Amino acid sequence: MKPTILIVEDEREIAQLIQNMLETEGFICQTCGDGAEVLQIVQALQPDLIILDLMLPGLDGLEICSRIRQQSFEKDPYILMLTARAEELDRIIGLSTGADDYLTKPFSPRELVARVRALLRRSLRGGQSSHLIYQTKYFTVDVDHHAAQRHLPGQAVETLDLTSLEFKLLQTFLSHPGRAWSRTQLIDNLWGNDFFGDDRVVDTQVARLRKKIESNPAQPQFIKTIQGVGYKFEDEP
Ligand code: CA
Repeated sequence: MKPTILIVEDEREIAQLIQNMLETEGFICQTCGDGAEVLQIVQALQPDLIILDLMLPGLDGLEICSRIRQQSFEKDPYILMLTARAEELDRIIGLSTGADDYLTKPFSPRELVARVRALLRRSLRGGQSSHLIYQTKYFTVDVDHHAAQRHLPGQAVETLDLTSLEFKLLQTFLSHPGRAWSRTQLIDNLWGNDFFGDDRVVDTQVARLRKKIESNPAQPQFIKTIQGVGYKFEDEP
């Protein structure tokens, strides 16, 4: 089965260029230039992946992204967000809209195809479940049910409200407690090894996760910074 990709882009030449590239690679593509029509098309087409431009007439890319994540489509599509300016990228990543990856225009055809392939290789979503659960002394992550809990001594079990990136980061940490991770290794785990962006995106995600799991994020007891290396997760106070 060839993966189906929906290209949402109002600049016709760019949409056409992306379509040609991806069709050459064997994907089935459909394009849409109006943000207001996207949700209907997603419903009908059930794409595996959506390439979503940020600035669109009708509904903008951020709004479309969050609406797609709120609805339960038969297939939960991967979303690769396109932005026109690099400065927008940090802001968008900070908003954690539910996009799986981001790319700044102009991008090379090779880079786009690499990102698309990296996303489609992932198997966290899309039905093949392998009931993965990671448990440490104070945390549990249930990958299939996308559920994370903190169970501190003497306190009721708390369900953690995490974005998809925060969840994946916690999952990565719990998979190897005590292991030192470089920023590059964390990027590979969170975004795939075709990520070309800045290491700082890891720091942003770590700061966000600390706010949700640490009693005092300024003096973290679980996610430790290792100077000159990266981060380490320790489940002992
Ligand atoms: Ca646009």
